[in-house]
Amino acid sequence: MKKTAIGHVNCPVCGFADAEVKEDKNVHAYIHCTDCNAQTFTRNAFRDGQLRKRMRPVTVTVADTVTAPATVPEPAAPVTPPAPPPAPPPAKRAAWFTPILAGVADA
Ligand SMILES: [Zn+2]
Repeated sequence: MKKTAIGHVNCPVCGFADAEVKEDKNVHAYIHCTDCNAQTFTRNAFRDGQLRKRMRPVTVTVADTVTAPATVPEPAAPVTPPAPPPAPPPAKRAAWFTPILAGVADA
């Protein structure tokens, strides 16, 4: 499973400025340098806290996998009056000229 970075720090090994800070399975932060591939684990709450204080947090999360979109509070929808019912079709008027045969057929 590819983990999502929660922040960035300078790599302690090669000095790369954007080494990723991720969380391990115990939710402790660790550094994964994408440049030299070094990993630095914190393993306890104290070091986890120190690293989290030092990192530059990722503010925009880009999901690797398809997840449900974040729920954005919708602005209050304006109350729209219900649409008026469609106007009835105009009454059919008899044509001014009615063929004689039509009259015979109706009889
Ligand atoms: Zn590095």
